[in-house]
Amino acid sequence: MDFKNLISHSKEYGFIYPSSEIYDGLSAVYDYGPYGSELKNNIKQYWWKSMVQMHENIVGIDAAIFMHPKTWKASGHVDAFNDPLVDNKDSKKRYRADQLIEGYAEKIEAKIQKDVDKARERFGDSFDEQMFRATNPRCIERQAEIDKVLKDLAEAMRLGDMEGLGNLIRDLDITDPESGSKNWTEVRQFNLMFNTQLGNIAGEETKLYLRPETAQGIFVNFLNVQKSTRQKIPFGIAQIGKAFRNEIVARQFIFRMREFEQMEMQFFVRPGEEMKWYEYWKETRLKWHLALGTPASKLRFHDHDNLAHYANAAVDIQYDFPFGFRELEGIHSRTDFDLSQHQALSGKKLQYFDPELNENYVPYVVETSIGCDRMFLAMMSESLRQEVVPDADGKESTRDVLKLHPSLAPVKVAVLPLLKNKEELTKAASDVYDKLKTKFLCQYDEKDAIGRRYRRQDAIGTPYCVTIDFDTLENNTVTIRDRDTLEQVRIGIDEVSGFVGEKVDFSNIL
Ligand code: ATP
Repeated sequence: MDFKNLISHSKEYGFIYPSSEIYDGLSAVYDYGPYGSELKNNIKQYWWKSMVQMHENIVGIDAAIFMHPKTWKASGHVDAFNDPLVDNKDSKKRYRADQLIEGYAEKIEAKIQKDVDKARERFGDSFDEQMFRATNPRCIERQAEIDKVLKDLAEAMRLGDMEGLGNLIRDLDITDPESGSKNWTEVRQFNLMFNTQLGNIAGEETKLYLRPETAQGIFVNFLNVQKSTRQKIPFGIAQIGKAFRNEIVARQFIFRMREFEQMEMQFFVRPGEEMKWYEYWKETRLKWHLALGTPASKLRFHDHDNLAHYANAAVDIQYDFPFGFRELEGIHSRTDFDLSQHQALSGKKLQYFDPELNENYVPYVVETSIGCDRMFLAMMSESLRQEVVPDADGKESTRDVLKLHPSLAPVKVAVLPLLKNKEELTKAASDVYDKLKTKFLCQYDEKDAIGRRYRRQDAIGTPYCVTIDFDTLENNTVTIRDRDTLEQVRIGIDEVSGFVGEKVDFSNIL
């Protein structure tokens, strides 16, 4: 389904609304509706269970959003958490310079892809894409251009060379995507942190930041957690919480928001062992995504060309969103940068005594950091389909169906009396609903024809619909309909809870 439909489906069916919509919304801020908050909570549960519950040596915390302002000086965010900003003087539109340049490279890649597709059509089954890309002169030339542009971009970003970025935009003749104008301002740095005031006295000492990442709440608590839980290295601390970034350009729905939620885990290891753990978490996190049924072809690793100030290795897990492959999760080897910085600025030792080595050291850190909202968008993109299906009367109709993994589905089972004005049926259905609601989030629905009720459940991703009909009254059986296959089987009322429970259980994917 295309991206526009995904956005309107999310609103119409109670997943995501624009924030303060009656005031025309607030740019890049969104609210989760009834089904959206259920889905988001289930994503968080899956993450928390796989990290904290499944690992003896990972514990969770919930740190405050406000932190001592020195935290952000130590972490480098006050001085270096910037994006390069450029304005177009004609359209008055604001852009991230690095994204304009990346967009230029993506356009060349699209041209290569077009040639590849044409060649595939021409050669049929015998077509070898890798060979074509490596030997076709036009592809080679274009690929060389992409490589050069991305290399120059990475270098300018590494050096914080704003003039260099401006020159690249001019040399490549990059135009404003909206207006086609090339009338650009200079590129300048823009700090992404929001700030506010503590108490009622204004001044630098009371200036607080809304955290731009959850990680620092973990670093400053490293020794508290280690001591109170008697963890031995290697061990991890996990956290789910809000983060805030004053993004320059916030587009693409919930992909890039100004207030969002992160699920992060910082894993503390012996210095020198970080690459082993980096590889371990790369593989483990990819498996987490695959377990939900996301096809491997829609996920890929993307190494960072441009390492952040704190990292010695970094990779993204990218997902093929409706607008192309983009970062869903980051895995970063952060060295001892953060703990050492906090140690220096606070004057407090943040070291670990390793009884096996009989020495003190500042641990190294490998982190996994995933945006909860981006995961939500990935799941919506992956599972929302429009399908033609047979109707009860033998004709065909189109349905919107959200084929979420059952453990993530907001409502697990809907209970539907076949007819609304037959009291025996509605009474029996209410009894089934009352039994099931202690176990799962269920819905009772008697309004409209049964076919329309099925469609409503399909649209919110309910994996099972239980229908109570006249046979139920005779023999205590119901039909249970599978959202994906549309198959209906008859089972005893007493079997429903076990049947659904087994399918929606997180242990199937952990
Ligand atoms: P990007 O390059 O897309 O700006 P990033 O590299 O700055 O992302 P990280 O700092 O690594 O992102 O943050 C970890 C995760 O947090 C990302 O993988 C992403 O899922 C999520 N995230 C970051 N910024 C946003 C945002 N503005 N809105 C929603 N999610 C975000």
